[in-house]
Amino acid sequence: MSGELRVPMSCRILLFPLPYQGHINPMLELASLLHSRGFAITIFHTQFNSIDPTKHPSYDFISIVDGTTPDQFEQDDILSQFIVLNNNCEGPFHDSLTKILDENKGVACLVADLHWYKMHAVAKRLGVASLVLRTGSAASLRCFITFPVLRAKGYYPLQESQKDELVTELPPYRVKDLIGMNNSNIVDLAMILTQDVEAAKNSSGIIINTFNAIESDDIKKLHQEFSVPIFAIGPLHKFTSQLQSSLLPPDRSCLDWLDTQAPNSVLYASFGSLASMDYGEFLETAWGLANSGQPFLWVVRPGSIRGTENAYMPDGFDEEVRGRGKVFAWVPQLEVLAHDAVGGFWTHNGWNSTLEGISEGVPMICRPYFGDQMGNARYVTHVWKVGIELEEKLERRMIAKAVRSLMREKEGNAMRERMRELRRNASDCIKANGSSYSAINKLVDHILSS
Ligand code: UDP
Repeated sequence: MSGELRVPMSCRILLFPLPYQGHINPMLELASLLHSRGFAITIFHTQFNSIDPTKHPSYDFISIVDGTTPDQFEQDDILSQFIVLNNNCEGPFHDSLTKILDENKGVACLVADLHWYKMHAVAKRLGVASLVLRTGSAASLRCFITFPVLRAKGYYPLQESQKDELVTELPPYRVKDLIGMNNSNIVDLAMILTQDVEAAKNSSGIIINTFNAIESDDIKKLHQEFSVPIFAIGPLHKFTSQLQSSLLPPDRSCLDWLDTQAPNSVLYASFGSLASMDYGEFLETAWGLANSGQPFLWVVRPGSIRGTENAYMPDGFDEEVRGRGKVFAWVPQLEVLAHDAVGGFWTHNGWNSTLEGISEGVPMICRPYFGDQMGNARYVTHVWKVGIELEEKLERRMIAKAVRSLMREKEGNAMRERMRELRRNASDCIKANGSSYSAINKLVDHILSS
């Protein structure tokens, strides 16, 4: 491609994804992109949610002994998992990095997830340039930086009674959209956000999986708030062909079923790799989808329902939705969203899912669960205006109504129209001279010159 720098193959980039699906995918997409530009690639991976090296034969892999035990990861407390992972991996990562430096493999830099704050510190101590990859939105990173101000102003701990108030320091967020709304441990949250921001400030650059057309204001503000360079190079999945990065095996038969469905008729419902609901919400979801009268494809992965490993559909559900609704444990989401039959996406608004839905122009029903998902949903519904949010307690009638609105009514059609524009923006930004394409050239240049 024109304007691309050629890289000596001896120039190696080390990448370390945080071991969760929503963090592994963008890091491997970035690896593929950098490899296509000529860099040699080494991936560090933990034993917890380890990546299968045989699926990526062009890369070197280094396994980090994380010393975690299943009971540390049994509960939904992601923040304490981040802390355990950082604490346990720091030493082994230090030793591995020292070894690879001793081997003189032409290491140019480390790219590690923003939440690997201790690994960034190790790289600094060993004199290796490190870049952070923020796998969430630019707006969510601004939320991290603003956290101390919000805390000092009394927003935290977040109060249910203030949940609908606007956060004047961080528009368009309301209190309920802020990170930490779902009873996160405030001490852990404050510690992690402080360390993350510190890591970003001390890095040699911040890579964000977003693009200018959807977050130009937030990206501009990040440029003012950080003195290190910022590279908005998303949507990363658009730069790569299908990667084998799924931790669960995707059931491709869902694509055969989609082939039998009319264009734009199917609602795809999936809540990512971590979110879980209680059994009551599961029942409401099942009957809401069934009663909507709309064809649907629903992902219910092991662990989706709190307290049960395997979900059993309620009595009468299969008969009610026969031929019209399908349930799978895991699907190839990018291909599902790109399928002509899919006309709507009920999502938890993980950032990858949000970007993937935008890239394929699929309007959304938003039901965020935790972390940055509420903020992402806020942008979908109130900034880009391409989704309907399901607020308050999940209830089957409101679900069926939202599905009908999105799939069959004027409100949904207007959102579909606006989504088409965002999809165009997403494909334009990766073309030569598009904003993300240019940012990648700058990133490569930056890596080679640092
Ligand atoms: N995904 C998938 N198949 C599924 C459900 C999800 O491949 O059945 C992928 C999806 O494409 C996305 C990732 O899993 O890339 C989930 O990341 P996201 O940030 O949306 O949510 P998280 O899992 O981190 O909450």
